[in-house]
Amino acid sequence: MKKIDIDKVFSGQVEFTYGAHNYSHVKESILPEVALIGASNVGKSSLVNSLFNNKIAIVSSVPGRTRQLNFFKVHDGFRNGFEVVDMPGYGFAKAQDKDKVHWQKTALEYLMKRPNLKRLYLLIDPTKGIKKTDEDMVNMLNATGVSFQIVLTKIDKLKIEDLEKAEKKILSHSKKWPACFPGLVKVSSLKGYGVRDLQKSIVTVLENL
Ligand code: GDP
Repeated sequence: MKKIDIDKVFSGQVEFTYGAHNYSHVKESILPEVALIGASNVGKSSLVNSLFNNKIAIVSSVPGRTRQLNFFKVHDGFRNGFEVVDMPGYGFAKAQDKDKVHWQKTALEYLMKRPNLKRLYLLIDPTKGIKKTDEDMVNMLNATGVSFQIVLTKIDKLKIEDLEKAEKKILSHSKKWPACFPGLVKVSSLKGYGVRDLQKSIVTVLENL
């Protein structure tokens, strides 16, 4: 197993390569991928930006707007590079039903048909807890056998004791999810807390390939 230099990976060159509104627009790739998924407004774009210390993903002031699979290529520090995929946020209340169905179909196809997808991170906002839309997504992941790891976002919004309570509740609930990896990562893009832990987690996935 070759050790990867985290700084080289996350401070090196990263570029937005393309967005896919339909699965048919997704390009075949032999590069390993990690993807992030979560409810609309969970803080996903902010986290992609924080990971790379760079404004590469669009932070939406209007939730639910970035409804496509966004592909980013990371060039440095790991073989020929790898890809980070920012998946569209689900559960946006104001989205039209036909858009929801379309997005679900696109996400499902991507998750099921992507052999180079090596880790999926499911983002949950601990101030809101697990919502019905998260549960629906997890049911889909369990049914398709796509494993995932939970990332709690916006942890700066909670006092330590409230975060502990929320974490305990989410962890206990997640025991019912067979496709969920044990343990979770906690981050705040705003304060930079835990971003290094997520970077380490991604690097560990790559080191074990
Ligand atoms: P997305 O819809 O999941 O991509 O979420 P965004 O990254 O666009 O963030 C949604 C809202 O949450 C924005 O107003 C962000 O400024 C805010 N936000 C994102 N990350 C954090 C964080 O770590 N802490 C706090 N307090 N707010 C955050």
